[in-house]
This record gives sequence, C-alpha cells and structure tokens, in this order.
Amino acid sequence: MPKPTKIIMLADMESFYASVEVAKNPTLRGKPVAVCGDPQKRHGIVLAATKEAKAYGIKTGLRAWECVDLCPGIILVRPHMRDYLAASLKITDILSGFTDRLFPYSIDEQFLDMTGCERLFGSPEEMAGLIIKKIWGEIGIRCRVGIGENPLQAKMACDRFAKKNKAGFFRLSYQNYAQHTWPLPIRDLFGVGARMERNFFNIGVRTIGQLARLPKEDLRFRWGVNGEVLWLNAQGIDYSTISPLEEAEDTRRGTSHSITLPRDYRFEKEIEVVLLEITEEVCRRARSWGKAGRVVHVYCRGADFDLPTGFSRQVSIPEPTALTMDVYDYVLKLFYAHWNRQPVRALGVGLAGLFDLQKIQLSLIGQREKKMALSKAMDSIRSRFGAASLFRSSSLTRGGMLFDRATKIGGHEA
Ligand SMILES: [Mg+2]
Repeated sequence: MPKPTKIIMLADMESFYASVEVAKNPTLRGKPVAVCGDPQKRHGIVLAATKEAKAYGIKTGLRAWECVDLCPGIILVRPHMRDYLAASLKITDILSGFTDRLFPYSIDEQFLDMTGCERLFGSPEEMAGLIIKKIWGEIGIRCRVGIGENPLQAKMACDRFAKKNKAGFFRLSYQNYAQHTWPLPIRDLFGVGARMERNFFNIGVRTIGQLARLPKEDLRFRWGVNGEVLWLNAQGIDYSTISPLEEAEDTRRGTSHSITLPRDYRFEKEIEVVLLEITEEVCRRARSWGKAGRVVHVYCRGADFDLPTGFSRQVSIPEPTALTMDVYDYVLKLFYAHWNRQPVRALGVGLAGLFDLQKIQLSLIGQREKKMALSKAMDSIRSRFGAASLFRSSSLTRGGMLFDRATKIGGHEA
C-alpha cells in the first residue's frame, strides 16, 4: 500500500475548559485558574488549568484542596459543560471555513484535511498560522496545530512539538519523522500506554527509534495487530483518512457517532462532556434530515485491553425526538445504569427508529384538536418538547441552529 501523502492538521485547544472560562470572563486572563468539580464531592477534581496554574504544578486529576496547597491564590471555577460544547461547535464552524474534510476527534481536538488548499491559504505552515489567528480572534482561545502527511504525524507533531513551541505549530513528514521522534521515549509514541510501555521495557525498547528498528514480524508475533500498528506508528505511517463532515448514511436505519478518546477518561464530568458532544452531533444529523428518533443507543468501551469492559445498550423512548437535551437525558440514564466505573476509552451514541418530523407534527395536530389553528398547534408542541422546540424543524436546514438557540436560552454564550 502506498503511503498517504496529504496535508493533515490536528488543531488542539490549549487548556480548553479553562480557556473557555477565561474567554467568558476576561478578568481571569493571566491568572492561575483551575476548572474543578464540586470540592465537597468525590468528583471534585481538576478538569483543566490555565498555564499560569500549571506553573504551580496544578494539573488534571488533582483535588481542590491540593490546588490550594500548591497555589494559595488559585481561582477555582466550576465546569460549565454547555459552554464547552458550544465553544467546540463554534470551533468546528470556524474550521469548516477552511475545509469540509473535518473530523472532530475529541471536544478540543479536530483533524483537518487541507490537501489541495495551498492556492487558497498558502503553505501548510501559513495555513496553520491562519487557523491559530482565526480561532484566537473569534473566541479568544489559543490553538496549537500539528501538521503531517497523515493523521498520526499530525497528532505527534501537535502533542510532542507544537504544544511546546512558541509558534504553536509544527510540521512532521516522512522525511523528518525519524529525526524528530526517534530519540523520544517510547511512552511518547501515540498509542503507547502504561501497559505497552512495560511490555516494551521488558524487551529492551526504551525509545521510539528502538521500536522502529525491530522487524515488523516480531511485533506482530508478540502483540498481534496492536503491535503492528504501533510499529507503523514508530515509522510515521498511518492509513486512516479524514472524511467529510456530512457522510452519507442510511437515513432509515438511524445515525450514530462515536469517539475514541485520546486518553483514558475516568471522571464523570469529563465523560458527560463527551457524551453531550456526541449526542449533539447525532441529533444535529437527524434534524438535518428532518427526522426524530425513538430508540437511543449508548456504547462504551473500557480502556484496558487485557480486561475488556464496556457495554452497548439501547432504550425505546415514549416520543420521538431529535432535541439534544432530550436525547442526552436518556443517554446519561443509560450510561450510568451500565457503567462499571472503570476508565473509558471510547464512547458512542446512536439514534434509531427514525420518524419524519413533519409527520410527527401532523399526527400531533391531528390527535389534539382537529381544527386547531396552526399557531396554537405549534404552542402545544412547544410545551411538550421544551423551549427550543420542534416546531422550527420543518424550516431547518442545519439542525445546529436549534441547539444554538437552546444553549442561548440556558445563559451564556461561550
Ligand atoms: Mg487540548
């Protein structure tokens, strides 16, 4: 198989939740701020910290009181999931101005395929500069960009280099991949967690370069496909592609979306943010087709390959809906009913049993009062489906508008 040679970028937001809080409240800029759950509860841990807070040693996973010990002036802010989701969607909007080959990888990381955009935006480095400037200008969040010829190179360029340099971007290619990454410890290779690091130590592999120099068959023999993928990662090779945001799907069967997380997620708030993000994507698609669903599906895969955990469950709901917050309620119920509290590596949400929104509206009107004035019918539907209501659906081309409205009703705009 020929190696893919594209212009792939990974745009990652710096200290995302904390940056959203600072953008909302500029008096926080330049100060040590940590986003932290309720200090009284078990999940009162740090979800994100500004770089000023990180300078004091504050990092994700610490307890509130540990932060105060490290930095008595720390400003603790409660998480606002809807704001983070709204900011994430806004970033998707901004990035889709650059390309439609966009893949939201996590709430604050998105892949872009910028192949063929050189005439519009210049060299890959110039493109990255534009993206960083645009996101900063529009929402006041610092973004870092990794550039590569495939998604793996872009991810490595971002995590290992762009996050650490001043320009905020870095470019890897097949040509310079070995020079830059091979001296790095094996743990720095994408896909290597604590368990694989131990396995590699046991066979004397401590750097990415040492792995790259082993015969591929060795890796395959020891760890199967997983071993082979890691060997390819060490060479800078990756065959995955970034497909357009709106993928053709079978609209009759339903729609689903899932995300493989960049690391293990173990805290409720973090997982809830991701579930909300995925739910919104699924509902947005359904709405863009003019559909609502009555079967909600949740998928969860555990982080540990040795001890596979996870579940895949669904529930039928009384009324078809494509409203994010309605579906999200069921998603959370399903999730907490089945989650065994083990770290999570992948999450998915589906909406099936799709109905035509227009037909639902007609049947509702019919059921209630046959000759009701149209405006009155709309009101009654609105009261059933909540404030950001279903009645606008027939005129919706992009379902996101509906959600935008719902979040604005909720309060702040990110
Ligand atoms: Mg980030």
